[in-house]
Amino acid sequence: MAKHWSLPPTDALRADGLRIADLDTSGTPGFKGDKKAAAALQAERAEVLSGLQEKLYANGRSGDSRNVLLVLQGMDTAGKGGIVRHVIGSVDPQGVDHASFGVPTEEEKQHHYLWRIRKALPRGGQLGVFDRSHYEDVLVVRVHNLVPSEVWEPRYEEINAFEQELVDQGTILVKVAMFVSLDEQKQRLMERLERPDKYWKFNPADIDERAYWPAYQEAYQVMLDRTSTEFAPWHVIPADRKWFSRLAVTELLINALDRLKLDWPTAKFEVEEQKRRLEQA
Ligand code: AMP
Ligand code: MG
Repeated sequence: MAKHWSLPPTDALRADGLRIADLDTSGTPGFKGDKKAAAALQAERAEVLSGLQEKLYANGRSGDSRNVLLVLQGMDTAGKGGIVRHVIGSVDPQGVDHASFGVPTEEEKQHHYLWRIRKALPRGGQLGVFDRSHYEDVLVVRVHNLVPSEVWEPRYEEINAFEQELVDQGTILVKVAMFVSLDEQKQRLMERLERPDKYWKFNPADIDERAYWPAYQEAYQVMLDRTSTEFAPWHVIPADRKWFSRLAVTELLINALDRLKLDWPTAKFEVEEQKRRLEQA
């Protein structure tokens, strides 16, 4: 078990049966350490993650089609960007395939909602990262009735079938839903307004979205209830403490990569022969 954890993070953060309304967003489920312990541990575990990701990349270069896809969902300011910068930022960018999903473009609107998702899927050996995802099509779309319920309702089952297909093809899905409190969001939005280096993250519409908080909570709850499957479970991350959410996602990724039981690819040449050739070259 990872140091300072009383439960494996995959168990402590499992969405199964969890009610978002009861979630303490400042909690650190399964983690016994404090912020200082987390900082030391983060550095240590980032090294482990980086080593595993290099192995995944090396295997991909040797034809292995397996990969890992991190799916990040959360309200604005939940810290999705921080995960990308601070967790994914600790691994070799060559092996990272990052995609973010915003309001669909005119072209995307002409297609099925999974069209842009399929196009962005990582290749073998890549660590894929989705900053928002196909789940927006049962979150923002449901909350704002962007399409009628007859259209979004079947999407839960369709998403499960889609993810089953990905898993069958050798993808490990790490689905992470990050939750901050309404107060914490207010503080983070205020910070964006107080710091010129954060203006770029601020969108006036984020304030309007706060009025829909209960509707989003409900949409997130239904999403967890209906799309947390055995083959692609959701993890719920209390995200008021950034140091915890980063450590938690690091551990979930390490766990996913460990499950691949990766080795370094074997040489496709005779090593001794190549050494002899090199000596004479
Ligand atoms: P951000 O992640 O802050 O860049 O914001 C992206 C915005 O795009 C968010 O407000 C999302 O709700 C919105 N968005 C993402 N996917 C969809 C979608 N399928 N339909 C409508 N809005 C979406
Ligand atoms: Mg935003």
